[in-house]
Amino acid sequence: MNIIIAPFVYIDGTYKRDMAIIFDKIIHDVCPAKEIPDIYRDIPTVYLEANSVLYPGFINAHVHLEFSSNETTLTYGEFMPWLESVMANRDEIAKRSDKKSMEMALEAMLASGITSIGAISSFGSDLEVCANAKQRVVYFNEVIGSNEAFIDDFYASFEKRFLASHRYNSHKFKASVAIHSPYSVHPKLLRMAIELAKLYKTPLTSHLLESREEREWLKENSGGFRAFFEKLFGVKESVTDIESFLEAFDAYPTLFVHATQVYEDEIKRLQHSGHSIAHCPRSNRLLGQDRLKIEAIEDRIPYCLATDGKSSNWSLNIFDEMRAALMLHAHLDLHKLAASLLKSITVNPAQALGLNCGIIAKELSADFSIVRLRDEPKSLDDIALWTILHTNNVDKVYIQGEQCV
Ligand SMILES: [Zn+2]
Repeated sequence: MNIIIAPFVYIDGTYKRDMAIIFDKIIHDVCPAKEIPDIYRDIPTVYLEANSVLYPGFINAHVHLEFSSNETTLTYGEFMPWLESVMANRDEIAKRSDKKSMEMALEAMLASGITSIGAISSFGSDLEVCANAKQRVVYFNEVIGSNEAFIDDFYASFEKRFLASHRYNSHKFKASVAIHSPYSVHPKLLRMAIELAKLYKTPLTSHLLESREEREWLKENSGGFRAFFEKLFGVKESVTDIESFLEAFDAYPTLFVHATQVYEDEIKRLQHSGHSIAHCPRSNRLLGQDRLKIEAIEDRIPYCLATDGKSSNWSLNIFDEMRAALMLHAHLDLHKLAASLLKSITVNPAQALGLNCGIIAKELSADFSIVRLRDEPKSLDDIALWTILHTNNVDKVYIQGEQCV
């Protein structure tokens, strides 16, 4: 058992002064530093430095480690040229993204205070690295395939990867299911993959309406995807539409990624089924996509800020992502947005990924990210903003009670 005494602790979206956290692998008590119960006397105590703020460990709900080596290979600016560049270069990038580059990606995330990740695995080449990560990993095996003739093959390859990862399940690693997207997964394959998620009770995620082109294709079989599918697969019609795709997820809360093109009907459906949205502002901006209107969804659908992979970003640092979000959502109230962004990397993703962390409270896992501000914050209400603006890497990180940084 250990005690940390922190000048500031983030609890229920507010900041409390001079608090004690008593923990081993889980948090046993949270109380004012002056009121530590006698039974905890004589326990080793760490006094954090002045102006330190203790947060629950940050959660990056959507990242692709297998694309960690991309910097100057893929085409940015618009969605279709980017997708075409992914198709042309993905094998090469995946090959270059060796164990070392994926471990460096995990270390960079850890340094910025990310203690849990939702890792999308397209090939399974990140399995060993993820199974040995210091972080908690929700390991999303991705299924893809739109050609009905090959559904059994697509499923077999996905199931094989899922079962291989399932062997590593532990208190820190959870084999899970990812659907690539509505345009790339045949409805029959979709149902089979969702059945597997239900059978093993795993978290479920899917890219959704990332681009204007995706919406046009799913709605009208037109736009940039038409030429893409015709050229690559000789296909002129989408395998599904938005409504039938979403229907398959009804009653199984899912983390939908991007959703920059969701309209009111879809928002209602997502809200009704208890789904959540992963919001990757830098990725959306770099691929020329619209802003996710977080003000339209926030009170209805929880959102989780995430970095996406280096296939559409320049860093996996969660503070870079929060600062980008502050700038991208320029017309929103600065202080409210800062507060909402901190929820979006703690309590919201913990719920979306089914993790027993994300809040500083009794019985939850002792995952902490500790930030040190240079000067005394003049107002408790400003700590969220100061944290986002003045932090690149955190001061200390604990995962499951063990100090990792
Ligand atoms: Zn993604």
